[in-house]
Amino acid sequence: MTADLRTEAFDIVITGAGIGALTLANYLAPLGFRILILDRRPGFDPVHRGELVQPLGLSILEELSLLDDLKKLPHTLYKSFDFLDDEGRLLMRSSYEAVPGPHPYALAIEPHLMDQLLAKNLSQHSHIVIRHESDFKNFSVDSSGVTATYERGGQSRMVLARILIGDDGRHSRVREIAKIPGTAAPYRDSYLGGSLLLPEDPSSCPPAIADTTGRYFLGPRSIFFFFSVSERRRFFLLLLPNRDREKFFAGGTGPLLRRLDRQIPGFAEIATQGGLDDPDRFMELSVWKVDLERWSDDGVVLMGDAAHAMNPHVAQGRNQAMEDARVLAPILSKALLSGPLVRRESLLLYEKERIPVTRALHRLADEMTRVWNSGNPFVVRAREAAFRGIGRMPSLERKIVTTIGGLRILPLSHWDKFRALLAGLIPG
Ligand SMILES: Cc1cc2nc3c(=O)[nH]c(=O)nc-3n(C[C@H](O)[C@H](O)[C@H](O)COP(=O)(O)OP(=O)(O)OC[C@H]3O[C@@H](n4cnc5c(N)ncnc54)[C@H](O)[C@@H]3O)c2cc1C
Repeated sequence: MTADLRTEAFDIVITGAGIGALTLANYLAPLGFRILILDRRPGFDPVHRGELVQPLGLSILEELSLLDDLKKLPHTLYKSFDFLDDEGRLLMRSSYEAVPGPHPYALAIEPHLMDQLLAKNLSQHSHIVIRHESDFKNFSVDSSGVTATYERGGQSRMVLARILIGDDGRHSRVREIAKIPGTAAPYRDSYLGGSLLLPEDPSSCPPAIADTTGRYFLGPRSIFFFFSVSERRRFFLLLLPNRDREKFFAGGTGPLLRRLDRQIPGFAEIATQGGLDDPDRFMELSVWKVDLERWSDDGVVLMGDAAHAMNPHVAQGRNQAMEDARVLAPILSKALLSGPLVRRESLLLYEKERIPVTRALHRLADEMTRVWNSGNPFVVRAREAAFRGIGRMPSLERKIVTTIGGLRILPLSHWDKFRALLAGLIPG
């Protein structure tokens, strides 16, 4: 490793070119701040999974005048999702029509397409630089600003800035070096993910495959989420209990594909054609919870998964990273005017606004994990009854989709849950 003696100066250095960083840079772009975004990846390549952009994320993209462009990319719009038991009986259809605001739907997309769009928009601003294959290593802070070091092309480089932003994901090195107190740990269960590419004419596929309906099959200790991100691309997630891959595939892929084929007829044949008769083709996606006491220090601030990685049951991580950006942008632009170093006291408003929201989502996600991932027959029966009950009670359904849509956090009270359970136990 050689040292590159050139030292560059920027107003803001961001480690990690995740959706949080890209959204923040898009908000700040018109203000002219010099921004350097470092990412160790070679580019915005596919992450081999689909994600949901909720009404919250859609409203942010609209604010940035990027929503129309996003809709020109391959995607699928969801006005509702179906929740079924493992026999394929419909428990509840959760509809976004109840969500207040201009976007009563979610948009499913391969996330790298969205990242590329945001990065392309930044490329028209010469004061914003995205540098891939750049591995952030360390930083120090003094009254004259932040000095960050990173490695690129076998050379160690140095950059001066007035603030360092950590959007470097759940294993954040920025968080570690800044010694921000809190917990960062994986959940007990993880997911296996995979995708199916349909033939050029998807209507030639079995109807359950061609159908783009988003379907969650919930059984005892099993979850199968099947959804579409374009006319030809389907993604799925499977619960991997105890992250035990060996046990999950103990009988090979045969029993698994047969089970999934009962839920989505035609699945096994297309999955086999796509090579999913090999367990190694199922990608493990671990699930983390990051819950911190604070998100900033003098010269440093965290966003996205680095600050609050959350369980995908709430389908919010990407959307909440975007919301971090929306809240942080005006606070930061004001703080940058106050001197050579952005101090923590000028970022407290960001923490005050964002930490309670992400904590509430963590609480909700933990509760969903206890109920959705359960194999206890009483919990499974109660869960199914509650789903049926919520489907019959529009006021409760509205609370749930408003929360999942990211617009407001409206958790169900004990009384709500009791009413849902009762309503679901009545044959109807
Ligand atoms: C199975 C699963 C399903 C999900 N589904 C959804 C969904 O439907 N909707 C939703 O909103 N969210 C979903 N999420 C969550 C979502 O993927 C994340 O919350 C989101 O991507 C976080 O974005 P971020 O801005 O924090 O950056 P990240 O995506 O975490 O990116 C961090 C970046 O930092 C870079 N980096 C790390 N360390 C360094 C370093 N030292 N130097 C340089 N670069 C570095 C990495 O290369 C990476 O590009 C899901 C997550 C999982 C696991």
